[in-house]
Amino acid sequence: MSGIELGRAEYYKPSGDFTVAGPLLMLGIGAAAAVLLGSVYGYLIQYNPIVYINVIGALVFGGGLGWAAGIGIRRGKVRAPLIATLDGLAVGAMGVFVAWVVWIHAFAGRAGANVWIFNPAELWAVIQQVAATGAWSLKGATPTGLALYAVWAIEALMIAGICVLVCRNAASKPFCEPCAQWAQSKTPSQSFGAVDDLDALRRRLEAGEIDALAALGAPSPERSLAVTLLECPTCNDAGFLTVETITLIEQKKGQKTSRRQDVLRNLIVRGRTLELVRSLMQRQHQESGTIAPVAAK
Ligand SMILES: [Zn+2]
Repeated sequence: MSGIELGRAEYYKPSGDFTVAGPLLMLGIGAAAAVLLGSVYGYLIQYNPIVYINVIGALVFGGGLGWAAGIGIRRGKVRAPLIATLDGLAVGAMGVFVAWVVWIHAFAGRAGANVWIFNPAELWAVIQQVAATGAWSLKGATPTGLALYAVWAIEALMIAGICVLVCRNAASKPFCEPCAQWAQSKTPSQSFGAVDDLDALRRRLEAGEIDALAALGAPSPERSLAVTLLECPTCNDAGFLTVETITLIEQKKGQKTSRRQDVLRNLIVRGRTLELVRSLMQRQHQESGTIAPVAAK
């Protein structure tokens, strides 16, 4: 009998451990990404006048840095969100630094000068000069001074913040400590019909009553439950169950966006309970596989 069947639900919590190589890999791969993506981003911001695209660029830049540092997290088995945060912040800062160096280079290049400033103190002095005169205009206004610093601060926070979030997320993924392996999904996430009483569903699943999922009806396009099972690839006895509600929300102009909300995240399932979840997922996968062509017309 596992703890779950005795009514004491256990959720996965990162152990805080990491290999020595982990943080170094994060910094090394992150630095390479900072040079590459920072250069692209620096030129994009210098030459592209459309604010919307620049904002998307900042998000993609931050996400790309986090993804690259995340390779170090996965390879280096970093299960320490604090290390992931600190390293993510360092990689984000490197990215912002490179973007500034390249942006100043491109800015000066447009005036026919060939300028590379790598010394942070000198770079800061040039940034202050740019802030005094303004760097670009939007709707006829050229922000300078505080307004411009505020825009740059938000931009830097966005890039570094997303990098940190991606890193923390990667370091918080389920990991089987006895086997020293990241958990993987053997069957893709499956949709089930939604229920109104999500608390009851959570309690039943925490009590190991997997029937609660099996009894759910067919998913509707407006509202469904997404069930994900991650498993240790080695011992076959460590499963991590996540259930989310997916609600389709109609926006203005008939656009639809889906909102995901956790019912439970990374509930630890073992033994008989794990076998039940696994076979339920496989059955649902086969059934959805056979009806999908019909549903898709
Ligand atoms: Zn294992």
